[in-house]
Amino acid sequence: MAVLIMNSLMEQIQQLKKEKNAIIMAHYYVPDEVQAIADYIGDSFYLSKIATKVKEDTIVFCGVSFMGESAKILNPSKTVLLPDITADCPMAHMADIDTIQRIKSEYKDVAVVCYINSTAELKSYSDVCVTSSNAIAIVKALPNKNIFFIPDQNLAHYVATQVPEKHFIFNDGYCPIHKDITVSDVTTAKRLHPDAEFLVHPECPPDVLAYADMIGSTSEIIDYASKSTKNEFIIGTEAGVLYELKQKNPNKTFYTVTNHQCCTDMKKVTLEKIRDVLLSYNGNVEVSDELRHTAHLPLNRMLELAK
Ligand code: SF4
Repeated sequence: MAVLIMNSLMEQIQQLKKEKNAIIMAHYYVPDEVQAIADYIGDSFYLSKIATKVKEDTIVFCGVSFMGESAKILNPSKTVLLPDITADCPMAHMADIDTIQRIKSEYKDVAVVCYINSTAELKSYSDVCVTSSNAIAIVKALPNKNIFFIPDQNLAHYVATQVPEKHFIFNDGYCPIHKDITVSDVTTAKRLHPDAEFLVHPECPPDVLAYADMIGSTSEIIDYASKSTKNEFIIGTEAGVLYELKQKNPNKTFYTVTNHQCCTDMKKVTLEKIRDVLLSYNGNVEVSDELRHTAHLPLNRMLELAK
C-alpha cells in the first residue's frame, strides 16, 4: 500500500513539474525517496553552481532554508520553492553581526569567510562564501593573512590545519549532527567493522577527524568510496548520503558511526510536501533586493575563485 501511495505521489510530481516548468534540486541529506525524484542531487557547492544555470521557471529546492535563499540569490528571476519553509539549519544562525564588525575593526586585513551553511544576512557581511568542498582552495587563494571563519568552528579548525600560513580567528558555531559523533562512537564502529575505512566530514570535531582514513565533503566522500578498491566504509556524516553511496556502489557496504546521524530539518522534506508546494506555491523564497545584492557578492566570489 505504502509503495502504491509513493508511486502515485511520484507520478503527480512528474506531471506537475511539466505543467509548471519546474525542476527539483535535492541535497544528499533529504530522505531517499526525495533524492530518487530529484533532477539534480548534490552537496551545497554543486547545487549552487546548478542554480546559476537553471532554464526552467521554478526550482523546488529540497533542503533547508539557507539553500533556497542561495538559489534565489544566484538566480533571482526564478521562483524558488521550499517544500517545508520551517526546515532550517541551526548552524546557519550561529554567528552574529556585532562580532563580525568587532573582528573587522580589530584586524584591518581580515577576510570574513562564510560557510555557505549560513543565513543570507550573515553572507551579506562576509567577503567570500565557501563550501566544505572548496574551503581550503578558496582560503589559500585569498590575499588576506587573517581569516575570520563563520559559523562552523570544526570546519574552520580543519581548514586551518590545511592552510597553516594563515592566521585564523574562530567562531563557536557547529552542526549538532556532526558534533554528536564522538571518538568513543568511532572506536566502537571501528571495532565492529575492522576492515572498513572511516570517511568523515570536516564538520565533525577535530578529535574525531584524527581517526579518519579520508576527510571530505559529501561529494568527496562519495567520489572516494566509488573509486576505492576497498569494500567497506564507515561514514561520518548525515546518514542520507548512504542513498547515493549505495546507488553508485551496490556491491559495497556502508555503515554509519552511530544510529543518530539524522538531520531532522532535512528530513522534513517529503514527497507530499513537494506535490503540495507545486500546487500551492506557498513556499516561495523571498529575498529583498538589497539583501540579494549584498549576499550575491560573496557567493559570486566563491564561484569565481573556485573555477
Ligand atoms: S546536517 Fe547540520 S549543517 Fe546540515 S542542515 Fe542539518 S544541522 Fe545544518
